[in-house]
Amino acid sequence: MSTEPTGTHIVSRSHELRVALKGLRKSGRTIGLVPTMRALHEGHLSLVRAARAECDIVVVSIYVNPTQFGRGEDFDRYPRDLEADTGYLSDLGVNWVFAPTDAEMYPAGFDTWVQPGRIAERWEGEFRPGHFRGVATVVLKLFSMVGPDRAYFGEKDYQQLLVIRRMTEDFNVPVTICACPTVREPDGLAMSSRNAYLSPEHRRQARVLSQSLCSAAESVASGERSAKNLVTAMRSIIATAADAVIDYVAVVDPNTLEPVSSVTGPVQALLAVRIGGVRLIDNLRLTPPEVSAPAPSPE
Ligand code: AMP
Repeated sequence: MSTEPTGTHIVSRSHELRVALKGLRKSGRTIGLVPTMRALHEGHLSLVRAARAECDIVVVSIYVNPTQFGRGEDFDRYPRDLEADTGYLSDLGVNWVFAPTDAEMYPAGFDTWVQPGRIAERWEGEFRPGHFRGVATVVLKLFSMVGPDRAYFGEKDYQQLLVIRRMTEDFNVPVTICACPTVREPDGLAMSSRNAYLSPEHRRQARVLSQSLCSAAESVASGERSAKNLVTAMRSIIATAADAVIDYVAVVDPNTLEPVSSVTGPVQALLAVRIGGVRLIDNLRLTPPEVSAPAPSPE
């Protein structure tokens, strides 16, 4: 019989973690995994709380995965404070923090990659070539190392969520992918580790991202059905921020991420905007009232 684990254990070796989890799994405990890249904020912690509520054992991985960053991206300056992060996780009752080294994840001779297909081609895939290959590879490795029953991901990274769902299904990984809603600052800005790079002025300008998404949701609620009109209106709201440079603004099918021309059911608005050189992404489900409203009761 395995004993109830106490405290938060920090491990860097997957072998150590595997040994620790083996007995617990055998005794029927469910294992939840929350993959993160450090610099934890309330968005990450909401995933951890969901895992804590739904699983017996919670493992949080903390690993800044070099293979998902392109040349010239912010890998080198990505915030790292393992001590602060493990403090938050211990307060939330996390059982294991898995913080592997690069040598553990990518030992000499590593040479196999997960190449996501169509779902990864557009949007982030276009602006960050190779990004989803790095994400899918590291997430599959984490699944193999931890063997979770459930794994938690944020809707904040909507395309990533779909890429991981697809990969999990395509490779028959026996894990349930759980999506958690985007956590926002009081003014609407989606929480992100990258928000810390914004100057006070750019932080103020960054509000246009969520403002444009909310405005699109309101337009759809009041009858707008043209995706082109929605995109134009979102772009003009974003353009009110002096230093905003748009990578993309799109209204897409929420399952395929293909652009739609008219809103005939729930759609997803996606955007990526650079403000003062800091690249931010956000998204929102837009649901026409005839879909979201309960059907009128018969007379
Ligand atoms: P990251 O450390 O940025 O790789 O994020 C780790 C996980 O946290 C991913 O599943 C993200 O989608 C999720 N996440 C990041 N920001 C938020 C947020 N504001 N709300 C909800 N989930 C988030």
